[in-house]
Amino acid sequence: MQAEEPGREQDPIMNRAEERQWMVDVLKQEGIKDEAVLAGMQAVPRHFFVPREMSDYAYDDEALRIEAGQTISQPYIVALMAQALELKSGDRVLEIGTGSGYSAAVLSRLAARVYTIERHKVLADQAGERFARLNYENIEIRFGDGTKGWPEEAPFDAILVTAGGPQVPASLKGQLKVGGRLVMPVGTEKMQELIRVRRNGEQDYREESLGLVRFVPLIGEEGWPLRS
Ligand code: SAM
Repeated sequence: MQAEEPGREQDPIMNRAEERQWMVDVLKQEGIKDEAVLAGMQAVPRHFFVPREMSDYAYDDEALRIEAGQTISQPYIVALMAQALELKSGDRVLEIGTGSGYSAAVLSRLAARVYTIERHKVLADQAGERFARLNYENIEIRFGDGTKGWPEEAPFDAILVTAGGPQVPASLKGQLKVGGRLVMPVGTEKMQELIRVRRNGEQDYREESLGLVRFVPLIGEEGWPLRS
């Protein structure tokens, strides 16, 4: 876990702390209870992860459009998914769907190391630059198809998929530690159920629903096919 540096509040990237506090208060009202998750959401400057023209809306509890026709998820959903992962400070986490980099940044405040994969190069490059500017040194980013996971770094304590697929990719289930948690939207391209999978044994996976959500599609070998 990375501690915040003293004096960061004066940094132009780290300003708008009051708006982050309002956002966190809304998350509490909506039922987010995990104090580490709330502190992570307070620490990461969401306005630094949205396109300039969206900056005024950065702390609204809404998903926003980003580059490459993708979205940065609603803060409540980011918090709900992070809470469902039940992270410990020593955990190693895999994220599929870096997008803006925001959820990876939040996870990096809660866990020891985050590995994140994005299939759009423009987004992967931009997120990498943001992590560097913020000195978030415990995040590794890769450009490519995340449905195959990151075998060289597996197994992971937790896996988060931030795009909706038809089923949980077998490669990702195999890269989860016994005792690990995976959170992912599963369903049609229009609507999904957010599910948590716990791997309780080598072949023992337990699934539970966390509610209905709507995410952009997970496109790749073990996701939806690319349609032109
Ligand atoms: N976590 C992101 C954030 O905080 O901004 C939100 C991500 S957006 C809802 C989903 C992302 O998943 C998109 O950027 C999309 O390009 C990416 N994606 C879809 N399929 C993918 C795949 N097979 N591998 C990696 N990234 C993928």
